[in-house]
Amino acid sequence: MTKPNEHIMAWLRDAHAAEEQAVTMLSNMARRIEHYPDLKARIEQHVRETEQQSAKLDKRLRELGSSPSAVKEAGGKLLGLGQALSGVFTGDEVVKGVLASYAFEHMEIASYRILIAAAKQAGDTETQRICEDILHEEMAMAKWLEDHIETITGQFLARAGTEGVTAKH
Ligand code: MG
Ligand code: FE
Repeated sequence: MTKPNEHIMAWLRDAHAAEEQAVTMLSNMARRIEHYPDLKARIEQHVRETEQQSAKLDKRLRELGSSPSAVKEAGGKLLGLGQALSGVFTGDEVVKGVLASYAFEHMEIASYRILIAAAKQAGDTETQRICEDILHEEMAMAKWLEDHIETITGQFLARAGTEGVTAKH
């Protein structure tokens, strides 16, 4: 038997670990982009949001009595953004980066919807509020990518088809 609160804590730790991973992966992605300034700027904005998300989850975990070591241990449970970003060393890394980011945002959206549902049921209004705030940022990021996938793909293909021009990042 596992109590609802224990599941909420475990899911908060998973979410925190995913945000920590996202900071690293998104920072690396933004740093490498040179020829797609709008994408670079939006990712940099989301890195800052993600750092805040991680801090909010860390704070909430501590308030719920999760020890720092437990927070640390969760570092192993990652959502696979690194795997998805293996396109970094291919000739189309910007496209693979958009693909991975779009997929990752939707994984985050699902995670926070689950946490919101669980917190609601448990009457944990503070966890619910934090996860709703984060959910809105993830949805905004997913929407931005959705709105820009066509343009970025078009720019990549145009650059890739031009002699002497770098397309991949
Ligand atoms: Mg996030
Ligand atoms: Fe996100």
